[in-house]
Amino acid sequence: MNKPEPAASATAALAAEETVSSDDIPAAGLMRLVTLSDKPVDSQRIQKAVTPVQQEQGAHALRAFWLLQPGRWWEWLVIWLLQNLRFAPIYLLPLMTGHLIDLANRGADGKAMAFMPFFVMATIGLCVLNIIGDTSARLLLSRISRSLTAGLRGALIHRLNRLSMNFHDREKIGEIQARFTIDLNRLEAFQSFVADGLLMNASVIVLMGVIIFMTNPLLLGVIFLGVVVNLVLVRLLWRHLAEAQLAYRTAEGAFLHRLGEALQAMRISRAHATERFVERRLQAGARDVARKGLSIDFLMNLFGSSSWALSTVLNTAVVMLGVWLILIEPLPLTLAGWSFTIEPITIGQFIILLSYYGIITGATTAIINHVPAVTGAVDAIRSLAGMYRDEDEAPNGARRMPRLQGDINLSGVVFSYPGAERPVLDGLALQIRAGSTIGLVGPSGGGKSTIANLILGFYLPHAGHITIDGIDLGDIDLRALRRQVGVVSQDVVLFNDTILANIGWGDSRPDRTRALEAARLANAMEFITALPGGIDHELGDRGSGLSGGQRQRLAIARALYRDPRILVLDEATSALDSAGEKLVQQALEQARHGRTTLIIAHRLATIRHADQVAVIAEGRVQECGTHEELMRAGGMYERLVKAQIDDGASLQPSA
Ligand code: ADP
Ligand code: MG
Repeated sequence: MNKPEPAASATAALAAEETVSSDDIPAAGLMRLVTLSDKPVDSQRIQKAVTPVQQEQGAHALRAFWLLQPGRWWEWLVIWLLQNLRFAPIYLLPLMTGHLIDLANRGADGKAMAFMPFFVMATIGLCVLNIIGDTSARLLLSRISRSLTAGLRGALIHRLNRLSMNFHDREKIGEIQARFTIDLNRLEAFQSFVADGLLMNASVIVLMGVIIFMTNPLLLGVIFLGVVVNLVLVRLLWRHLAEAQLAYRTAEGAFLHRLGEALQAMRISRAHATERFVERRLQAGARDVARKGLSIDFLMNLFGSSSWALSTVLNTAVVMLGVWLILIEPLPLTLAGWSFTIEPITIGQFIILLSYYGIITGATTAIINHVPAVTGAVDAIRSLAGMYRDEDEAPNGARRMPRLQGDINLSGVVFSYPGAERPVLDGLALQIRAGSTIGLVGPSGGGKSTIANLILGFYLPHAGHITIDGIDLGDIDLRALRRQVGVVSQDVVLFNDTILANIGWGDSRPDRTRALEAARLANAMEFITALPGGIDHELGDRGSGLSGGQRQRLAIARALYRDPRILVLDEATSALDSAGEKLVQQALEQARHGRTTLIIAHRLATIRHADQVAVIAEGRVQECGTHEELMRAGGMYERLVKAQIDDGASLQPSA
């Protein structure tokens, strides 16, 4: 492969960013802390984590999230400790302020003034701790969450490469892209909420709660009431919010899908002057996303303001209770056989309590405002789980087949695509001898490409057998098999890279000599040498800048570069003019020697010299033999040939 794998390059890019910043920032030593782990998250770990995720259970999703963490438990502990440093002023300043007020309140005995320098120094010291704790906690957290994203991206690409073709036929590209962006962003958001919001605010609530309880249990009761009411609100909100977020992600995925389509079809939509149509569709999609986002916002706002109103009312209750506590004499009480005394409090204590109550309310609100991060993460995990549901490609066999002969045999093959009413192939039998060339012809939609797909192991036949060199396809290591197969299809896929890289695609350092030889065999040299830069010429996006015929010859060169044992040409010459086809025809004559070659052709001239020709229609081989035999037999093939001659096609493109 000329370019690093996308997963690796994403990590590399991130790592590069880190390197750059470590040069710029004086604290380079500290930056070393943040080197990312560059491993994709282990596939089995994800599988294990997401498998129990069921449609309704959020708890499983959260558990899955923990199993996915690239960070170790002690890193979370360190983050928590550092955050305590950050919160130290919040804990301690009210205590000191309260103390100072009580000292001042006692009169001009000089104690308050004596306390001042300590108060100032402590404030400055605590603020320095806050900066240190905050920065380093965030740094560690970023490291964990960026590693998670990079690791999951790597793992998802790995997974995509192993998912069945049925999955890829069905799944929209935009939705897959949404998993890489929206879903992973949601996991990141959740992660930072856990580290930044949940972990710390929960600790704050507990700590403040304990302090208030020790000062005055009655006040804690009022606060506890507030927390309970908030939890009830969360419960009410949860389902609506989860639904709103699912709708949002679906809309966003659909929009991305349409956008991708629109970008690919830029030329065709200009040519047909359908820009307005495309724009309207995209605008409608964008509005849909906005609407779905709006309902999330609305829910959150409603919730936020009710929660605020509630805590304001409770605040008044706390103030009244506090004032009452300042004014009372010690009040002994007996409640359900339990005697205790309510002690009066000082003004300083009142200020401390009021501040702590404020902090608890703030912490509760901070947690609650992040409910969308939680429901979003649950949704994201579910969506990722969708990629791990029993849709692996056909089970991979163990036979590595180091050097194929290329003997292919199909017998009694029955196959239909999911959801189709009639089988595409219905008891098809076909024998292709090693090193021979077979031409597949027949009406469009007859199942010719399907045969090639089955031989490549993209789909499993429902009945019947496919063997290669006498070994059942199910027992063969498909990747080892495919490394020895060259495929050229009608839709040529080229990459935004040099000609050399396109020919040697999959090789990180393509062999020039081999690439040139392959290009020569494919009769592509004549146009390659005319390009600025020759074989090092960089193609545009998706290989733009070449004609259809040139693209196809490049694709043939790519197939030949691998020196395949089996060559599959699916309508590979359909975009060529007759002169170009003649060139490719010659190329194929040279290329097919010593290889099993499967030529699917619409133009019958292409398969004129094949060792055998099979006519595929209605899911079976209707006729099979050499061109001459089939012409003599006077069946379907002869009719096809006649029809093409009537259309003016020559049957003799090559010498
Ligand atoms: P052809 O002989 O023209 O190459 P194909 O093998 O591509 O025919 O297709 C055979 C039939 O299977 C067609 O009716 C087509 O609609 C259907 N088909 C092809 N690919 C798929 C797919 N990925 N999913 C569902 N149906 C498909
Ligand atoms: Mg086809």
